[in-house]
Amino acid sequence: MATATATEEDEEAQHEESALETARRQLARAAEYLDVDEGTIERLNHPDRVQRVSIPLQRDDGSTEVFTGYRAQHDSVRGPFKGGLRFHPGVTEEECIGLSMWMTWKCAVMDLPFGGGKGGIVVDPKELSEGEKERLTRRFAEELRDLIGPKHDIPAPDMGTGPQEMAWFMDAYSMQEGETIPGVVTGKPPVIGGSYGREESPGRSVGIIAEQAIEYYDWDIADTTVAVQGFGSVGAYAARYLDEKGAKVVAVSDVDGAIFDPDGLDTQDVEDHDARPGMVSGYDAPESLSNEELLELDVDVLIPAAIGNVLTADNAHDVQADLIVEGANGPTTTTADEIFAERGIPVVPDILANAGGVTVSYFEWLQDINRRQWSLERVNEELHQEMLKAWTAVKAEVEARDVTWREATYIVALSRVAEAHEARGLWP
Ligand code: GLU
Repeated sequence: MATATATEEDEEAQHEESALETARRQLARAAEYLDVDEGTIERLNHPDRVQRVSIPLQRDDGSTEVFTGYRAQHDSVRGPFKGGLRFHPGVTEEECIGLSMWMTWKCAVMDLPFGGGKGGIVVDPKELSEGEKERLTRRFAEELRDLIGPKHDIPAPDMGTGPQEMAWFMDAYSMQEGETIPGVVTGKPPVIGGSYGREESPGRSVGIIAEQAIEYYDWDIADTTVAVQGFGSVGAYAARYLDEKGAKVVAVSDVDGAIFDPDGLDTQDVEDHDARPGMVSGYDAPESLSNEELLELDVDVLIPAAIGNVLTADNAHDVQADLIVEGANGPTTTTADEIFAERGIPVVPDILANAGGVTVSYFEWLQDINRRQWSLERVNEELHQEMLKAWTAVKAEVEARDVTWREATYIVALSRVAEAHEARGLWP
C-alpha cells in the first residue's frame, strides 16, 4: 500500500476530499490487483446517468420554495440500481455519484443482484414541518418516476430519511401508476410491505462484522472496549449488538457531544438520537467528551457511524484504537486510510460492515415481489449468514494477497462487477 506523504497530508488539510474523489481512488487501487480490462475500469469511473430535478414545495406559510434533488445511477450490470435517498444540506451531485459507486461495490461484495444508485435533496429536514416533508417527498417521487421502479432503480432510506419518507414515496409512485407497487422502495414500515429488521440491519451488520474481526484478531470480546461515534440509525444498533455479545461500549455520541463510562455504558438505557434527539449527549454518564475526543479514545474498536470524512489527515495520527470498523459511508479519507495502514491499524470498510442495510433491503424486495412477509427471526438468521459469507470471501483475499481489509473488499467487489461486464460485453 502506498504511504501518505507530508504533501498529501497538507493537500488534504486544505481541501476536503469529495466522496467521488475517494471512490475513484479506491477503484484505481483495487484495479492494480486485478487483471481487468482498462475500458471496463473507465466505464466504472463514470455513472451511467445522473438526473437533476427541481422540486417546488409549498411551505406552510403559503410561499413557494424550490429545492434541488439528484439521482445518480452508477452501474446496473448485475441488476437494478439500488441505494438510498438522503435529505441533507450538504448533498451535491458529486457526492451522489461517489455514493452510488460505493453502492455498486456494496451490492457486489454481498453478491446481491443489484447495481449502485444514490440520490438526495439539498435540504435540512429539521427545518421542515411534517407536512412540508411529506409534500417534498411526494413531489420528489413524481420527479423521479420515469427513472425508478422495482425492476429499474429502487431507492431506500439514507441520512435524513426513514420509513415514513419511504411510505410517502411508495404511495405517491403507486397512486400515479394506478396500483400498489411496494417494491419501488425498501425501508418501508412493515405494515405496507417493509421488512422486519430493516431498520436495525445496517447497525446489526456492523456489529456482526466487528464481532468477526475481534475473533480474527484473537481478542476476547468480554475484554474488548468499543467507542461509537453517532448513536443513531446505524451506531445505536451496532453498539447494542456488541454490548449484548459482551463487549464494553465505553463511549457513544450525538451531534452535540459524547458520553463516556470506563466501566461500560448500558446501551439499552441510552435513548438513541433517532428516538429522541439530544438524549445521548444529555445522558447522565460519568464523563462527557467532544466528538473529536471520542475518535481519539484509547479503545480496542472505534466505530465511526455518524457522517463522512471524520477520520482525516488532521486526526489519523492521534487515533488510538486498535481496530476501526466503519459504520457511516465514507468516514475515512484516502490519506487517513494510508496513515492507518502505515500505523498497522486495520480498517474494515463501510461497504462490507454496513452492508446489512442493503442486504435486508434485498430481502424486503423479495418479500414485496412474492407478497409474503418473513419473520424477524428469519431475516436476522439470513442476514447473519450473508454477512459471514461476505466476510469469508474478503478474509480469503486478505490472507491470500496480504492487502488491507479495504483493498480486499474492493478486490472481491470489483472482480464480480468486472466479470459481469466482460461476460455481457459492450453494446453496440
Ligand atoms: N442507504 C443505505 C446504504 O447506504 C441502504 C441502501 C439500500 O438499502 O438500498 O447502504
